[in-house]
Amino acid sequence: MNKTKYIFVTGGVVSSLGKGIASSSIGALLEARGLNITIQKLDPYINVDPGTMNPFQHGEVFVTDDGAETDLDLGHYERFTSLFLTKKNNLTSGQVYDSIINNERKGVYLGKTVQVIPHITDEIKRNIIEVSKDKDIAIVEIGGTVGDIESLPFLEAIRQFRLDLGRENVLYIHLTLVPYIKTADELKTKPTQHSVKELRTIGIEPSIIVCRADRVLPSDIKAKIALFCNVEPDAVITAKDEESIYDVPLSLHREGLDVKIIEYLDIWAKSPDLSEWEKISSGLKKAKHSVTIGVVGKYVNLKESYKSLNESLIHGALANETHVDIKYINSEDFECENIDAPLQELSACSGILVPGGFGSRGISGMVTAINYARTNAIPYFGICLGMQLMTVEYARNVLGLKNADSREFNGNPQDPVIDLMENQKNIGTMGGTMRLGAYPCVIKKNTLAFNIYFKNFKKSGKNTKNYVNLNSDGTISISERHRHRFEFNNAYREIFDNGDFTFSGISPDGKLIEVSELKTHPWYIGCQFHPEFKSTPLSPHPLFKEFISAALKHSRKFETKGRGSAKKSYETC
Ligand code: GLN
Repeated sequence: MNKTKYIFVTGGVVSSLGKGIASSSIGALLEARGLNITIQKLDPYINVDPGTMNPFQHGEVFVTDDGAETDLDLGHYERFTSLFLTKKNNLTSGQVYDSIINNERKGVYLGKTVQVIPHITDEIKRNIIEVSKDKDIAIVEIGGTVGDIESLPFLEAIRQFRLDLGRENVLYIHLTLVPYIKTADELKTKPTQHSVKELRTIGIEPSIIVCRADRVLPSDIKAKIALFCNVEPDAVITAKDEESIYDVPLSLHREGLDVKIIEYLDIWAKSPDLSEWEKISSGLKKAKHSVTIGVVGKYVNLKESYKSLNESLIHGALANETHVDIKYINSEDFECENIDAPLQELSACSGILVPGGFGSRGISGMVTAINYARTNAIPYFGICLGMQLMTVEYARNVLGLKNADSREFNGNPQDPVIDLMENQKNIGTMGGTMRLGAYPCVIKKNTLAFNIYFKNFKKSGKNTKNYVNLNSDGTISISERHRHRFEFNNAYREIFDNGDFTFSGISPDGKLIEVSELKTHPWYIGCQFHPEFKSTPLSPHPLFKEFISAALKHSRKFETKGRGSAKKSYETC
């Protein structure tokens, strides 16, 4: 029998209220109470997954260990909890329709008319139940805003859940907005009333209303919402704007959210141990140092595109008692005639990072920024595309391969130092076909990468998502998540192996270069994988932690010597 209890989180009034953070925080609070949980996201769009969507449209694509390209909210779920999520934790309308249509073509429905109710809704319910097997509580977040046409089948499916499993096993939490109108000096409850009304029209009666607001709601406002929305006054919870998303679990706990959940679901749970969250929250407020990191990419106008990266830099800084100021610099700015301004920006950074990306736009600007980091001894961290371009830059400017390039940007380069992976050559479709998910990698001794992982090895016990193992031959094994089609071209290994450029991380079969670095530079490293998908505030990823530490050291050098104007020893491309 299914013993799992379900919490369904819906959102109303406007989008971007932080439903993902609220769901993650509920997860964190319930885990802190010793409950075994899972979190699932239901996305109403027709795409099978967000992998084929433009980052400007959808933000970051998060990647799980099992290689699913998912909504970025899954990144929050993993960062706030101990969960390792899978493909099944992100269900889209596209996936639901895909499987129903496949079944219909196979004749599974025996000539019946295939309909939204019951076929689509049953398929949604089947998926939710499958993910939540053996869990005490499943938190299910429904994407979109109540009132959207697209989310109706999901809402209908979750409505049926309460009928199927009973009131004590199903809880609806609705997140709304309570705006403060300055001219009237009043908090407004009407949007919340309307949104709850909308939800009740389709048969869902929320028991808890979480109100996003810029201040803690006074009791009279809570009482008003309770009366009009038919909930208990202490089931109206403020989700106050917080300085950091990592303050939200504590803030919702102070409002009594977890107590109310436990009461409504009639489940026994110990009182929560929130000491780790308290440490994070105070650590963020009491940073002793500050450092500026320049992220040079092309999706810089939409920060959501670099969500995990942004968070990982914050985690790395937290581990160094540091505040990180992240400057997003558009790589295309380096492609204009006058690059003094972006160079000036770079020169104010103590660390430079080139993140993952696709397509040829903005590439030469990234190469210029990488060259600047290399020639000015500024700590550099290249992630996926950032590692590929660090290879291209080195080939062009050090190894004398002037026309070196990645085949991604130039179909037929003279020196394709980055080439299409062998098993990618015959792939014709786009969705889900890259090298995706967690793969092992062996880190060589006496390298920067080794030191980075080794230093943090002992701490990788509790709450960590970073798999690090010390091997009997003295090397280290790690497992990191990938999302790419191109790789270092092994035909160039010998030329690169010049005593400076070092391949410090290689796949266990010796075929794929996973980490590269420079011996002659204080801190210069690139990885083919995405460490940002495994960093959490409770367990910052070693690469981000050490990158921030190197940047801090670099900034201290400047504090004593004084930072000059941007040196122009870079080569323009
Ligand atoms: N576009 C490159 C590739 O497909 C890099 C991908 C990435 O940075 N995630 O290999």
